[in-house]
Amino acid sequence: MNVLVVNCGSSSLKYQLINMNGEQVLAKGQFERIGADDAIFTHKRPNADKLEQVKPIKNHKEALKILLDILVDKQYGVLNSMDEIDAVGHRVVHGAEKFADSVLIDDNVMKALDECAQIAPLHNPPNIEGIEACKAIMPNVPQVAVFDTAFHQTMPKEAFLYALPYEEYAELGVRKYGFHGTSHRYVSQRCAELMGKDIKALRIISCHLGNGSSVTAVKGGKSVDTSMGFTPLSGLIMGTRSGDIDPAIIPFLMEKRHLSPQEIDTLLNKKSGVLGISGVSNDFRTIGDAAKEGNERAQLALDMFHYHVRATIGAYAAVMGGVDAIIFTAGVGENGIDDRAAICEGLEYLGTKIDPEKNNVRGEEREISIDGAKVKLFAIPTNEEIMIARDTQRLAGK
Ligand code: ADP
Repeated sequence: MNVLVVNCGSSSLKYQLINMNGEQVLAKGQFERIGADDAIFTHKRPNADKLEQVKPIKNHKEALKILLDILVDKQYGVLNSMDEIDAVGHRVVHGAEKFADSVLIDDNVMKALDECAQIAPLHNPPNIEGIEACKAIMPNVPQVAVFDTAFHQTMPKEAFLYALPYEEYAELGVRKYGFHGTSHRYVSQRCAELMGKDIKALRIISCHLGNGSSVTAVKGGKSVDTSMGFTPLSGLIMGTRSGDIDPAIIPFLMEKRHLSPQEIDTLLNKKSGVLGISGVSNDFRTIGDAAKEGNERAQLALDMFHYHVRATIGAYAAVMGGVDAIIFTAGVGENGIDDRAAICEGLEYLGTKIDPEKNNVRGEEREISIDGAKVKLFAIPTNEEIMIARDTQRLAGK
């Protein structure tokens, strides 16, 4: 069975074509700057020349048509015909309370996705556009939606409710949903496999640290708390997002700086985080370099980021009555050797310590705690695409 995994952002489309027989990636790539005259299309196959094109691409539907043409192209293709695509798996950011698992898409699901878009106006519309484009081009191919929020639907009420008037939850759905669920689910399963233990018997803290970051407490294979909230803005300090702040700051800044709701939203989502503190960049490599050259605000941004990850780890150990393993994943978690070391500084009270030699690794799956540590530390590259493909096979497989 061949599954096409599609991840549509507002101006991007990432894809992987996976043969589920051996879970082999046949091709992968992305479109960037969709909507512009100089959109970029990159297409890669294992052990073959990469294709890169710059050309006008109007919308996601046009990008998908270009992609399907390339997948059956004589020179750059990997399929004989489009009929060899058996199903499409879509990443969808927000499933609200309607979806606690991935789902085979039909008309009712499309209606529910439109309703979810009301609380995720930035994230869901491009996902829906991608699904509609696929349905138009491949009307007979089953489509599956895989949600960032679904894994966190197991959180108990005391963890997911905000202490606002209860009607704001009951009538408007204002609550913590959590994100990065597909990634937390993948790495926590891998962690149990690496430990040779049943995930049902484990308490795992999964740290997905990238441009967007979140930490999740996974008890017995289920998410019991996570740091992102109603939107992906809350929780940890991120590349450009503030993470948690006192909500009273918002009206204060709006008044003092004469900001509209949209301007305060931009300040919190695009100008804050390690970019806002360092004034240097949102890229952890650039900030790390600046800090090493003596830039104090760059160092401060890193210190703040590490502090908040460490504090959240402590909180989630308390939530689960202890912890058996802590995982680092995504761009910073997989590659940030210094970041992992700084976050783990002082975790001995939990029964763990990072091993500097084992920690000297980028982009590899590895245990990084000292031998015999009671609590294991792992670096595990995430793979959301394979989770989406597996769910798609499970729900659309013949
Ligand atoms: P996104 O949330 O956009 O998917 P990623 O998971 O790709 O983000 O993570 C991007 C972040 O990972 C960037 O800030 C980048 O600097 C960081 N990163 C990549 N390589 C390294 C590295 N070697 N050391 C520290 N950070 C790194």
